Formats: sequence, structure tokens, C-alpha cells
Amino acid sequence: MINCELVLVPAFADNYVYLIVNGETCAVVDPGEAGPVRKAISVRHLNVSDILLTHHHSDHIGGCLELAQTFGSAVTGPADPRIPGEFKAVGEGDTVAVGGIEFYVFAVPGHTSTHIAFYSAAEGCLLSGDSLFACGCGRLFEGSPAEMHASLQKLAALPDDTEIYCGHEYTLNNAEFAVSVDPENEDLVERLGVIRQLRAEGQPTIPSTIGEEKATNPFLRCEDAALQAALGLSGADAVDVFAEIRSRKDAW
Ligand SMILES: [Zn+2]
Repeated sequence: MINCELVLVPAFADNYVYLIVNGETCAVVDPGEAGPVRKAISVRHLNVSDILLTHHHSDHIGGCLELAQTFGSAVTGPADPRIPGEFKAVGEGDTVAVGGIEFYVFAVPGHTSTHIAFYSAAEGCLLSGDSLFACGCGRLFEGSPAEMHASLQKLAALPDDTEIYCGHEYTLNNAEFAVSVDPENEDLVERLGVIRQLRAEGQPTIPSTIGEEKATNPFLRCEDAALQAALGLSGADAVDVFAEIRSRKDAW
């Protein structure tokens, strides 16, 4: 469970920026735009000691330079020349300490070639960006199904109670698609009901947990016999099943 305060800051139409709050300062994760972050930190009278970036897409880094210049924040992200400004590049196996919390870095290529995720074992939380979504995964802009499947399997190996904080509120669309490919999954059908209720009330569906995702996220269930049968792929290789689900979702 989270011991630090983790604040969700909605940005653009469906992005989430996260604040990891520690006393009077915070770390900001994936600030796609500075405005909503400035509002959220000013009402709490916070400084921004650190900025963590999961990948180079503009809806995740667009506010980074402005915030870093204003607050003198230390920026950490993946080694990628498409990220402007000064920052510390990290990759698989590195650790980053922000606000007294140590995060382990996973390389999770697939959505982009250099995408990373930040995991705190002590806090039991994963900042997954656009790799693992609640009930889905990111589009494969720069990676193969095999790469993304391997990336998600790494994350799926984390403890079941790990809370997942992903980069977008895509959960309702993801869950509706998931039911279309995995209709016999009772946990998934039940989850869709909960998600519909939350969204009808204007509530976020974040965080979910690794255990919940393993039970309901089709991209983590490529070896499930009922899902394979529903796809007409009984006994197929997990990566081929993953590729089929991803291509159906792209056309959904
Ligand atoms: Zn992205």
C-alpha cells in the first residue's frame, strides 16, 4: 500500500500526471502540460524536487522544461535524444531515489523503443506510463508484439497487490474491448461493471493492481485457454495470441 501521498492530476483529455508528495516537496511523473501541475502544487504549497519521465511522447513531457526551470527540479528519464533539456538517463536495473522513496527502473519497450517504468517495492506501486494500462496496454508505435509481451510479463511478475498508476484514463474503452475478446471471464465482466460505475460518477479508475490485471487484462492472459479458444487460437504461442489481441484492439 502507498505510504507517501500520491496525487492524480488530470491533464489534457485523458492523461494522468502524478505527484509523489513528501512534506513540502514532490516529484512529478510525466508532466505532459505544466498548467494543471502548477495548480495542483500551488494549492498544496509544494516545490518540485524531481521529475520522472517514462517516455518521450509530448503528452508526457510537454510541461517538463517549464517546471524544471521554475523549480530547479532534477529530471530523470530514459536515454532518448528526443527528450529535450538536461536530465539523468536511466535504464533497466537502475534505481532512482525521490522524496525518500527508492524506485527500481524497468525497461519496458513496445509503446516506444526506450519506454521505462518506475517501481517501488516499499510503497508497492508501479508508475507504468503507456506500457501497462488498466485493462489494456499501449499501442506498439516502436516495438514488436514479442517486445511488448516480454515487457508486460516483467511487470506481471510483481506482487499481486502492487498498485499500478498508468498514463491515461483509457480503462472503460479497454474493458469494453476486453469483454469482446474474453466474454466468459466473470472477473472481467464484474470489473467492467465497477469501471462503468466509477466513470459514470466522474471518478478515476486508477490505480488497479497487478493481481486484478492478471485476472482481467487480456494482454496479460495470452496463455489462458478460454481466451485462446474465444480467439480461435487454442494452443497458440503466447506472443501470437498477444499480437492478435493487439491488432484487434487497434481496429476496435
Ligand atoms: Zn505515449
